[in-house]
Amino acid sequence: MDNEYTGTKRNIRRLLSSDRFEFLRHDVSVPLYVEAGEIYNLACPASPVHYQRDPVQTTKTSVLGAINMLGLAKRLGARILQASTSEVYGDPEIHPQPERYWGRVNPIGIRSCYDEGKRCAETLFFDYFRQHQLNIKVVRIFNTYGPRMRTDDGRVVSNFIVQALQGKDITICGDGQQTRAFCYVDDLIDGMVRMMATDNGVTGPVNIGNPVTFTILHLAETIIRLTKSRSRIVRIPLPEDDPRQRSPDISLAHTMLGWEPVTPLEEGLKPTIAYFKKILGISGAVAPIEQVARELVAWPQ
Ligand code: UDP
Ligand code: UDP
Repeated sequence: MDNEYTGTKRNIRRLLSSDRFEFLRHDVSVPLYVEAGEIYNLACPASPVHYQRDPVQTTKTSVLGAINMLGLAKRLGARILQASTSEVYGDPEIHPQPERYWGRVNPIGIRSCYDEGKRCAETLFFDYFRQHQLNIKVVRIFNTYGPRMRTDDGRVVSNFIVQALQGKDITICGDGQQTRAFCYVDDLIDGMVRMMATDNGVTGPVNIGNPVTFTILHLAETIIRLTKSRSRIVRIPLPEDDPRQRSPDISLAHTMLGWEPVTPLEEGLKPTIAYFKKILGISGAVAPIEQVARELVAWPQ
């Protein structure tokens, strides 16, 4: 189910003909009455550019969305997994961040609609667990990337790749010394599926991310090297409340799920770059939508 605010049907076109797949266009902030055995709630745009465009709707998506999906899980007796976020730690003073750290979040800033929305969703999940004995699972996702992201997603990995492939300036916010740890999408999904399969009463929250940490400057240099780009690095202002450092402590995921990421940054960047190359077309200009659709159906070969 998706309202396609940032998602696109093109990404699932190859699944639509399967009789084991069904797509519902629906907004999670509106109640939904369907049947399900397991619910993964990933609703909410995660790129600051997209979630800040309509911040009121962002909070509604996380808070009303959680209430609706928890209500659905309660009616069905279904397991429900919440895709929470490292943003619950805000701009952290502790590094790397363990799950027991409560975070340092600005409640009234431009990131708050996302951060506080996701924090309130966690609160709702744990209250439904305590009050209604729901079988909840909460994972906290750290910066994730991979093929099928939008060219205009706005987050750093896709931005840098698109800029490098198009020969445009690579826009580093601030001095580029802020750190992030990037997790390849396949590793994340493996962690989420393992979490859903845990025994009743295993609730999390559990961090899912790749603990190998890089500066944003290092990311830019790596992408320039892998794309053999001649783009220049330029500095643009650091957005308000941009966390200085972020890296997951994944010891809990390791002991509880037997999980750890297996894709090093460069290995994950390669298929991601190949994907963007395809949808941007050889000329570097954004391809017409029909061509993009054809490429996506053909991906991966
Ligand atoms: N809800 C839903 N689908 C369902 C059941 C509930 O979307 O199958 C929504 C509905 O909007 C409801 C909310 O989930 O208000 C919370 O449900 P719950 O049963 O916890 O609370 P109540 O209905 O008592 O407010
Ligand atoms: N960033 C950057 N250039 C860009 C986009 C982002 O330098 O074009 C920086 C951003 O300021 C932040 C980091 O990259 O420090 C990660 O940003 P992103 O939006 O990917 O996600 P965040 O981790 O901030 O939620």
